[in-house]
Formats: sequence, C-alpha cells, structure tokens
Amino acid sequence: MARYTYPFGKGRTDGGADMRNLLGGKGANLAEMSGLGLPVPPGFTISTEACVRYFQREGEYPEGLWEEITEHLAGLEGVLEAKLGDPENPLLVSVRSGARVSMPGMMDTVLNLGLNDDSARGLAARSGSDRFAYDSYRRFLTMFGDVVLGLEFRDFEMRLEALKDREGVRLDTEISVDGLRSLAEEFKGLIREKTGRDFPQVPIDQLKVAINAVFDSWNSERAGAYRRINRIPDDWGTAVNVQAMVFGNLGETSATGVAFTRDPSTGERKFYGEFLVNAQGEDVVAGIRTPEPIERLADIMPESYQQLEGIYQTLESHYRDMQDLEFTIQDGTLYMLQTRGGKRTATAAVRIAVDMVEEGLITKNEALLRLDAGQMEQLLHPQIDPDASLNVIAKGLGGSPGAAVGEVVFSTRQAQELAERGKVVILVRTETSPEDIGGMDASQAILTSRGGLTSHAAVVARGMGKCCVVGCEAISVDETGRKFSVDGVEVKEGDVITLNGSTGEVILGSTDLVEPELGGEFEKVLEWADDIRKLGVWANADTPNDARAAREKGAEGIGICRTEHMFFEGGRIRAVREMIIAETDEERRAALAKILPMQISDFEGIFGVMDGLPTVIRLLDPPLHEFLPKTDEDLKALAKDTQTTVEHIKAISEKHHEFNPMLGLRGCRLGLSHPEIYEMQAEAILTAACTVAKRGVTPVPEIMIPLVAEASELRVCREIVEKAGREVFEREGVEVGYKVGTMIELPRACIVADAVAEHADFFSFGTNDLTQTVYGLSRDDAGEFLPAYVERNYLSGDPFIAIDPEGVGAMVRMGVDLGRKTRPDLKIGICGEHGGEPSSVAFFYDAKLDYVSCSPYRVPIARLAAAQAQLRNPEGGVKDGKGRAGAN
Ligand code: ADP
Ligand code: MG
Ligand code: MG
Repeated sequence: MARYTYPFGKGRTDGGADMRNLLGGKGANLAEMSGLGLPVPPGFTISTEACVRYFQREGEYPEGLWEEITEHLAGLEGVLEAKLGDPENPLLVSVRSGARVSMPGMMDTVLNLGLNDDSARGLAARSGSDRFAYDSYRRFLTMFGDVVLGLEFRDFEMRLEALKDREGVRLDTEISVDGLRSLAEEFKGLIREKTGRDFPQVPIDQLKVAINAVFDSWNSERAGAYRRINRIPDDWGTAVNVQAMVFGNLGETSATGVAFTRDPSTGERKFYGEFLVNAQGEDVVAGIRTPEPIERLADIMPESYQQLEGIYQTLESHYRDMQDLEFTIQDGTLYMLQTRGGKRTATAAVRIAVDMVEEGLITKNEALLRLDAGQMEQLLHPQIDPDASLNVIAKGLGGSPGAAVGEVVFSTRQAQELAERGKVVILVRTETSPEDIGGMDASQAILTSRGGLTSHAAVVARGMGKCCVVGCEAISVDETGRKFSVDGVEVKEGDVITLNGSTGEVILGSTDLVEPELGGEFEKVLEWADDIRKLGVWANADTPNDARAAREKGAEGIGICRTEHMFFEGGRIRAVREMIIAETDEERRAALAKILPMQISDFEGIFGVMDGLPTVIRLLDPPLHEFLPKTDEDLKALAKDTQTTVEHIKAISEKHHEFNPMLGLRGCRLGLSHPEIYEMQAEAILTAACTVAKRGVTPVPEIMIPLVAEASELRVCREIVEKAGREVFEREGVEVGYKVGTMIELPRACIVADAVAEHADFFSFGTNDLTQTVYGLSRDDAGEFLPAYVERNYLSGDPFIAIDPEGVGAMVRMGVDLGRKTRPDLKIGICGEHGGEPSSVAFFYDAKLDYVSCSPYRVPIARLAAAQAQLRNPEGGVKDGKGRAGAN
C-alpha cells in the first residue's frame, strides 16, 4: 500500500535531505537535521505525493492517508507525553507547507494548532503564564482565520491595533493579559460573523482543515504566479509538516530568529542574522518590532548562542553550502526549525563559491554548478545604489537590465548630436523602429511608452547590453514638443532622469549608480569554466569597439558582424541612397565605389582587433527601402544631391515598398538581385584582410550569406564571393584563407541542409529570425499577445528569450544532422540573442554545435553556461569542438 507519512525527531527519523522530492525541502531538511542529532522538535511530514493525489481526487484524501496521520499523531503524543486538545497538558503543533524548492512567503503555515478555550486554560496553568497562553491563542486564531478560513488578515490586525490604542501601548508584548483574553473572544466573534460558523473547538478537526489549507495553498494565485516566474512545474505539489510547537514567546528567556551562515549580500564568511526576544514565528521578518543583530544574542543568551554557532558550522560543512536557518529558544533551550540553501545576491554567490573551493569544502566543478548563470547578469550592469532615495514617477516593464542616468532626448538625431558633444543621454520614444538604431547606440538607455518585452526597443537594447524600460504607458510622449509628462510632472529635453531596467522604474533626477565589478572572483570562476568547456563562445559585434569589448570579455570569435549598420553610419547613408536610386548599372557602381573604401576601413579595424580569431561577416541583409529617406526634408536633400526630383525618389521608394518586408527582398535575395552589392562587400572584406595581413595581423574572415532557403542561392553567392576573392588576391599579391558559409534562418534551409552544406564551409543558426519564421510570428508585433500567452501557460516562455526546444530547436537539430551528413567537419554555430541565455546555451551544447555567439556583455554568462551544460551532460556536446580559440 502507498505510504504518505514520514516521522522526524530524535530517534524516530525516517527520511533525509535526499528525499526532497517526496518530503519537500523543509521536511527533508528537518529529517536531515534530526539525523545529525540536532535539536529539532519532533513531528511528521505528509508527502508531496499525498498532495498530488489530493488534487487528483478533487480534494479527497487518498486511501489510508487519514489513518496514517492519526497514527503518527498518536506517536507524537506518546513521545511528548501530551495530547492534542488535552485540557491539562495540551500538545500544540505547527502545520507547515514545504515544496520541493523553497517558495518563500508563497504558501502558508499555521502555528499553535490545538488550542481551544479549554486547552488555552490548560496551557496557562501548565506554563504558569496566562500572558503566554492567550498570546498564543490569539495568534492561532489569526492564522487559522487567515490561512485556513480565508478571512482577511487585516480584519484581525485592525482589532489588535484598536486594542493597543485602547490600552495606550505600542508593542504587542505590552498588551495586558485581559486584553489578550478579550482579543481571543473578539477573534472568535469575527470568525462567526464572517463565516457563519463557530471557530472549530475540536483540535483534530482543526488539524484536518489546516492540512487541507496547506495543500490548497499550492494552487493559490500567488503561488501559481511564483511558479510561472521561476519555471516550477505546477504538478509537484507541496508537502505538509506537522511539528510539535516550541515557544519563543515564553518570556525574556525565550526568543526566535533567522540567520545565514554567511552574509547573503556580500558573501563574507561571518554568521549573519537577527532575533527577537519573547516572540514567535515570523515576528522577526514581519517588522512589528525591530529585531536585534545576532551578535547581541551572545550577550543575552551566551549558552544558546554558542550552541547555535556550533550548529551553524555543522550544518554548513554538512551541506557544503551557505545555509539559511530558523531557530527558536524556549526558556533557554535552543531548537532548530529549518535549514535550507540560502538565497544570495550574485556577488555573494560568486564569493561564496570561490571561498568554498579555497576552503576545500567543494570542488571547482561544484562551484561552477552552484552558480545561477542567469543571475550573473546582475554583475554585468551598473545598478542603482541600494541606499539611494528615489523619486519614482512611473513604472514600465524592465526591458533590459542595468540602470542609467542621463538627459532625455526625443529623437535619434538629437541623441547622436548630443552624444557627439559628450553628453550622456536617454532616448525617450513612444516606440522605436530600426531607424532609431543610431540613436539607441548613442544613448545610455532607452525609455518607451509602448511595446512589451519583445518590442524592438527591448530586443535591441538587450543586444546592446543597454538599460531599457519599455511599455511605460503612464507617460505620454510628445516627440515633436520634445517632452513627456506623467501625473502632472513634465520632463523636457535636457532634464535628467534615471532608469532602472531591471524593475522598470522611471526616476526623476540623477541617482548614484554602483558600477558592476566583474571582480577577481568572477574572473576566477570564468577561468575554471574555460578550462573545461568544449563549446566555443563568440560575440555579435558590428564595430571595432564592440569587438574589443567582446575580446576583453573572453569572446573567441565574432559570430556575426552585421554590415548594414555600417551602411547607416554618418555620411555613408548618402552613397547608399545614391546606389538605391541609381537607374543604370554604371550609376550604381559609381555609388558603390564610394562605399567600398569605407567598408574596407571598417573591416580593417575589426580584423585588427580580432587578430587570429575568426570573424563572421554577414553580407547586407535588410530591405532597401529601410535606407530611403522618410521626411520631406531628407527627400529634398537627396533629390538635390542626386540631381533628381522628389517625385522620382518617391516613385523608387514606392517600387521598393513591401507589404511584409520581413519576408520580402532580403538577404541573399537582395544580393542576387543586385550582385554588385555583394561583389563590393566581398571585395572590401578580402581587401581589408590582405591589407592587415601585410601588416602582420592574422585575419580569419568567414563570409556569411543571409536568408538562404535553397542551395542554389548559396552556390551563386559563393561564386560571386570567390570571383571577387581571385581578383583581390591577384591585385594585392597575397592570398588570405577565408570561409564562405550561410546563416540558417528559414525552415526550408534546415530541411534541405544536406544540399545547402554542399556549398557551405559553415552554418550559423540565426535563431532570432528562425524563431520568427518557424512560428510565423513577427517579433515586433508579438508584444500584443505573447505576454498573455506566457501568462496563461499556452507557451512555457517567450521563445525569443529562451530557445523553443521542441519547434525551433528541432529545426536546429535537423539542420545540424543533415549538414554534417554532407560535411562531417561542418563548423556550426548560432548567432542570435539565445546565444547568451543559459538554458539555450545548454540546448546548443546538446545539439552538438561548435560555438554560440551572443552580445559582448553576455559573453561571461555564456562561458559559465557552456561549462555548466557540459558538467551536467559530460557525454554530450560536439567531440572536438571547432569553436574554441585556437581550434581553427
Ligand atoms: P516559511 O516557509 O514561510 O518560512 P515556516 O513553515 O518556516 O514558513 O513557518 C513560519 C514561521 O513559524 C517560521 O518563523 C518558523 O520558524 C515558525 N515555526 C514553524 N514551526 C514551528 C514550531 N513547530 N515551533 C515554533 N515555531 C515554528
Ligand atoms: Mg510563511
Ligand atoms: Mg521558514
């Protein structure tokens, strides 16, 4: 027969830390602590399995469960020589929730269960303290009313406050005994009034409904929301711990507290915590009275403190991790009520991991696995000084983490002009479009009033590693009037604001920021990661500056250099526009000839920085109309420059108009329609390579053809590149090795990858577009409904953030398998935002890619995630990865 109940406590323990799935974290650790001989009040745990069955049977207990519970209760009564509800010698218990992973504050606990009018009198007589008995009773009535009966906590709180006012006291502990007694009566009246029923005086009935309430709290709204955010499955269920009460509210020789075995914000190795004398349960964290620092306990209760110190050291070396403890001292006797791995900041996590390796407590590999790679983002961006006082004027969505202070501007042009003059600016727009790239680049941060976490602004900002707040609907942006307003506050161009891209807060005025410290300790962890990982980590970089940042952060190559950004820059756009409106090949070549030297110098810069490391350069991708002027002013200027008419340019613009540019004349389709563009780019890349090679630099160019759907497209583009190569090498009198490959971003390319690979030296999965094309979903428009999809669990997450393993991921696997079938040595990478997201990095490792490429600032995260993926699956991954530095 199934078994659902497991006892713990001195000499009775049946369970341990390895049974966390069944007993929940709290129950498993109570059992573990008992097993270690620590003073844990006895009790028993009802398993998560019982909870799951309870839900399956729609609130019915599975067979035998109730019998087991009463049996274990009898056992507990035997050990403690007290009985639940006994008027002479009552046993009181806590009923505590505890899921597999800790969900702080999400589910409920009831203390002092077993009290009724009779046992309260019994407790008073036995303890010799009416105050204690009625303080416990009023607490129980509150928790029972709030947690079990679903009444408003506030209603209880208000009556407590009113009583304190009547008695003219400030603290709970100052209330008179008669006051406490009358409060119990008031609370019972409240329960009767609100539920239409009397408070249940029979303790075993109390127990049953309390257990049900804990089960039910698993499905509460806040618990569900917490699980979604933290990706915890809904079907785990929670365990319930029924445990004998110990009392921290038994007068001045009693106390309750929480502590960490190391400092959870800095990681410093010192006992850290707080306690309250004469208090119970969560008084310490509830902020009712200000708790005292744990060191004070050494003065007040030196014996208990010493014992606690010994216990914390025992627990830390036993669990080999920083622990978060709950303890209670009852009349001078110390009891342990909980231990668990302590939550910590990224800074603390790194410091603790490194210290523990140095202390010989854990291995380097364990240290690597301990860290939450995603959390390390905290270390990579400036943060708002935690001590600063903030004037928050609005709140949007945290689109891209970090914090920034700057003067607001409302147009790309303004952003660029002011940035040029050395100003630090924040670009504020209703929403951004690809035209704003330059302005975003020039700004310190971006604020938009529209759009979600997948909006253009958020996606681009994350790519740039810039702080960004999106969808801040409370502000109304007046772009022409160069101001925005919110609740009567008007912020004009040049006014200073602060943004918090993690919380979405918009703050008026300047705020102190604290710089991220990559810090020696994090560097050390990354070196450990580099020592073991096979998966290469490259970066997406468009400029020599980006490339330098990427190398500094440990990138082993550039996975994509997008050349269209070069086309937008400064004076070039004019030549680009001339090229587009050219009517003859001759005119077009003349315009391209102006761009050629500029491109050569761009590539020289990048090759110079990347000396010896592979550099994937993607040939021009966006539709031509994106380059054409939009404002009348710009149109007129271009007409004048090219000696045509505005009408003529408008006509050309119209000709280029596409209903769905994402699926239009893009990528190699553009290159094949206008071969002279790719010819020019190939010439520029390879000329630059020859030039730097002559200077002793080692360029490793890899030319990437975008948006290939059909092998013949790649074949022809490759011919264009190779022809240009032959001409350049002849002219320059040197030869430079280079590769030609393709970006895989269309489902068809995955399906015919074996044929495509005939012409490819490498593949790089462009997972941003591949996700769009596999889902048939435009990222810029997804903001309308995608968040709701995730909220309602139609999707487990935003596929533009973490790779969708079943759909997009299946395409990737197919592309890898078919591509390597044709060319076993095919080098395969991914470029796209997924390359810096830890769960996606693990996916790409398992899919046997050679490298991932991500934004420069996320390179450290990817290095760590790559090592973790390998440690978790040592048999997986590509055998002799070609993505690591020096492997080429
Ligand atoms: P959470 O998961 O929210 O921390 P807990 O189950 O740990 O909830 O309980 C809430 C509070 O009640 C904690 O302060 C805990 O130490 C205290 N508590 C729980 N069980 C007992 C007990 N048997 N005796 C005394 N205090 C208890
Ligand atoms: Mg709680
Ligand atoms: Mg707790």
